[in-house]
Amino acid sequence: CGIVGVTGKDSAVSILLNGLEKLEYRGYDSAGIYVNDQNGQDYLVKEKGRIDDLRKEVGANVQGSTGIGHTRWATHGEPSVANAHPQVSADGRFYLVHNGVIENFQDLKNDYLSDVEFTSQTDTEVIVQLVDRFVTKEGLDTLAAFRKTLSLLGHSSYGFLLMDKEAPDTLYVAKNKSPLLIGVGDGFNVVCSDSLAMLDQTKDYLELHDGEIVVVKPDEIKITDQQGNAVERDTFHVDIDA
Ligand code: GLU
Repeated sequence: CGIVGVTGKDSAVSILLNGLEKLEYRGYDSAGIYVNDQNGQDYLVKEKGRIDDLRKEVGANVQGSTGIGHTRWATHGEPSVANAHPQVSADGRFYLVHNGVIENFQDLKNDYLSDVEFTSQTDTEVIVQLVDRFVTKEGLDTLAAFRKTLSLLGHSSYGFLLMDKEAPDTLYVAKNKSPLLIGVGDGFNVVCSDSLAMLDQTKDYLELHDGEIVVVKPDEIKITDQQGNAVERDTFHVDIDA
């Protein structure tokens, strides 16, 4: 299972698909991507089975400069297109990929989302619906809604990559007990669960610590801790050829 993301590259679709292919060796049962072209067009493509099948499903019209991708190893809900990631909020605004397990997803569903119609059996969908709930019903901005959601997850494990259709060049990133790195480019940035996926894009990476939230745009990477304080972090260089 794996996670990839990119912002600020016109070839986002092929970067995501190639990145997912490099993570195939880790095993998975389904895969998907979401991309946004910054002009109001966006695309969600998911497939059960191989990345090759996903690639065939992605038509030439599917293009964008910011996007997220995922290979799923099912823990909650059978392998299927509906359960593949990205998972989407009911209003189609938020898109989320997740590696790991949300331990208390059933409680969260009961406590906050009893009126929401779910379209998957995944633990992950609860998270994207919660973010949407806190934005649309409580008026929080996306970052605050994401932060509030993370504060409710107890001992869950996660690498998360979230997109908001209304901030189409922004990736929201967080992790706990699951690996995620930010890859630093010139005019673009990437995110991945393993640098192997993105070594052909950049060799400079930022490590993320558990509980931190990162906002990634083409020309900006902002790390904050759980309380929202800014965090400074040096990049490290990966000295391997892609
Ligand atoms: N628990 C999530 C699911 O079953 C994510 C699994 C994974 O790490 O790929 O959909």
